[in-house]
Amino acid sequence: MYFRNSNSLKTVYKKFPIQLTNSLSGNKEIFQPVNPGHVGMYVCGPTVYSNVHLGNVRTFLSFDIITRYLKYIGYKVRYVRNITDVGHLENDADEGEDKIAKKARLEQLEPMEIVKNYTEDFHTVMRQFNILPPSIEPSATGHIVEQIEITKKLIENGFAYEVNGSIYFDVTKYNEKHNYGILSGRVIEELMESGRQLDGQDEKRNKIDFALWKKASPYHIMRWHSPWGDGFPGWHIECTVMSTKYLGSSFDIHGGGMDLKFPHHECEIAQAVGANGKDPVKYWMHTNMLTVNGQKMSKSLGNSFLPSELFSGNHPLLEKGFGPMPVRFFMLQSHYSSTLDFSNEALGSSEKGFRKLINALAIIKKLDHPGSQQGDAALETELNRLVDECYLNMSDDFNTAKTLAVLFEMSARINDIKSGNLSLNKLTSECFTTFKNAYIGFMENVLGLKEEKAQDDELLNGTINVLIELRKKARTDKNFALSDKIRDDLKALGIQLKDGKEGDMSYTFE
Ligand code: AMP
Ligand code: ZN
Repeated sequence: MYFRNSNSLKTVYKKFPIQLTNSLSGNKEIFQPVNPGHVGMYVCGPTVYSNVHLGNVRTFLSFDIITRYLKYIGYKVRYVRNITDVGHLENDADEGEDKIAKKARLEQLEPMEIVKNYTEDFHTVMRQFNILPPSIEPSATGHIVEQIEITKKLIENGFAYEVNGSIYFDVTKYNEKHNYGILSGRVIEELMESGRQLDGQDEKRNKIDFALWKKASPYHIMRWHSPWGDGFPGWHIECTVMSTKYLGSSFDIHGGGMDLKFPHHECEIAQAVGANGKDPVKYWMHTNMLTVNGQKMSKSLGNSFLPSELFSGNHPLLEKGFGPMPVRFFMLQSHYSSTLDFSNEALGSSEKGFRKLINALAIIKKLDHPGSQQGDAALETELNRLVDECYLNMSDDFNTAKTLAVLFEMSARINDIKSGNLSLNKLTSECFTTFKNAYIGFMENVLGLKEEKAQDDELLNGTINVLIELRKKARTDKNFALSDKIRDDLKALGIQLKDGKEGDMSYTFE
């Protein structure tokens, strides 16, 4: 990590105090963590029943930036992001099949095979976009005991009831003492009136009640013993359990996409307050959606594409392939709280913008100060101002768009130095070092932008050649099913194999 100087390492966040928009109040607030100097942050992770799409990437990228910046300015951060591997039903109102169990049935696999495959896919995509791993990545199935314990506590405290082996949270009872709707602004009376009475909801005292534990039918594979018979946890309870287990009953930041505000996060608050008697989260943060032609990118709407399709360009919505770094840059050009509409044109100009900044990064890394003692005061003031603006913009609700604009100004000065329009003799060593460290630090550590390495190409070419050899072997062995599969799978990724004379094979990128 680069800092203005090593002494200020612990105090940068004091000089540039963070303000963030708290969804609980709807206002921008000064960030004051529960334990000074430490930040506990929980973000709802993916439900691992399908490949993550680009919309999901946007949300995880936003929290990656937030964690990176908090660490950069000296906070000690514990970042918990869970894996939902049970309990997320097809419909938010406790209706339908478990998403993972359904996929397991369709693919004729064990649910845990589904979980493993898609967790690995998720991790690969996070690495491709240079999204850093969280400090702890707990899974719902690893915390069944704790989920049963808190459910018992909620029954004891009078906020939950059992019906036929299932346990439901009693929203009306809770709302007599507390405020259900505190986060989302929903009004309980309106919720009671709106919506249809769903199938299988007759067990609930009220249709707005939600499941903490569901009885498993004899055919339900994902099941655990409980005091109420075999069953599985509801979706919302896992996040209450895992956030408070690792961050304490009252922690700093809880995040997720805006679509999780209701019912998921509203229910999380009710569960935590019902069990522990206090508000679990000081600052709620919600990221806005990646849209396509103004509509939320979502698998069910059929307008989503996978990162692999984005890289290869192999999708009807894409005119060509785009690398992960220009896409990262594209996403950072808008504030996390605004919607971001996907378009080929915007991605095309992001490629150019990214290239400008990354070229300047390569230049400044190679520059050394000549050792002059005297600086041009006006020039130094300007460069110091640019450095401060990076901090000020990021501390102002993590404004990556404005920070990028400052980095463009800085890159122009770097190009001036390279072309000789600006002599390094006009800068003191201290000013130059501060400027250089800030440019490198904000590009690489805070925004996570890096050169897309030639090394990646070598790796890719090497990997394709291994597959070509395997395909040749499969053909020699007359295993045509396998040789066709290798060809088709590569084609789906945008890599076209060509069979030459005498068994030779070559490839091109489509
Ligand atoms: P899921 O696996 O569906 O629970 O989603 C994982 C995360 O991605 C959640 O925080 C969602 O809010 C978020 N998400 C889903 N669709 C989008 C989208 N189009 N744009 C931004 N975030 C999204
Ligand atoms: Zn959650």
